[in-house]
Amino acid sequence: MKHQQFDYLAKLAKEKDITLVAVSKTQPHEKIKELYDRGQRIFGENRVQELVDKHESLPKDIEWHLIGHLQTNKVKYIAPFVGLIHSVDSLKLLAEIDKQAKKNGRIIPVLLQVYIADEETKFGFLLEELLEYFDKGIFEEYKNISIRGLMGMATNTENEEQVRNEFDSLNTLYKKIKSNYHQSNSDFSILSMGMSGDYELAIQEGSNMIRVGSLIFGERG
Ligand SMILES: *Cc1c(COP(=O)(O)O)cnc(C)c1O
Repeated sequence: MKHQQFDYLAKLAKEKDITLVAVSKTQPHEKIKELYDRGQRIFGENRVQELVDKHESLPKDIEWHLIGHLQTNKVKYIAPFVGLIHSVDSLKLLAEIDKQAKKNGRIIPVLLQVYIADEETKFGFLLEELLEYFDKGIFEEYKNISIRGLMGMATNTENEEQVRNEFDSLNTLYKKIKSNYHQSNSDFSILSMGMSGDYELAIQEGSNMIRVGSLIFGERG
């Protein structure tokens, strides 16, 4: 556990008015509790079962974010409590979240994941596809979902220029959507980008929510 790194990031986030999501996937409960005791309240997980287990055993005022790919048949397990789903990558998934949110009498906050990387393994909507959906007003159909912003992952590469360009393209899209479709809706206000290896670049390119795991917890086992 890297307390100094955590304290540094927490302070940076506060100064810059950025939200720090501590990515606790694969980490044991004790380590999460340690960060909780240092003041951290937002944790991100990428697996549904792990998220459910941790939510059950850890303090109830933790805000749990799902950051990894979500299968439609698993939405029901997290719908009662999830604080933010970063990884919405299809209309089918959106429809299921809407349905489960309604069942639970909730409005579930989500981010739309956008495909910006030069890698075939990363999920997400295409930029043009997303603009088309906003144009057609498709997202307005989902009454039990609050679309709070966008999430993206840059290519895992040493090439800073490429990572910067990818983040910039996401920020440009974010601003476009915000100004064209959300003038009166301040709920659309989150740009989730940046992880341990690229959070500095992400912040420079406009991120206001970073998802940091290994830098805080140490390498995952
Ligand atoms: C694991 C993960 C992170 C955190 O990665 P680190 O490199 O450990 O900071 C961030 N976002 C997503 C979507 C992840 O799956």
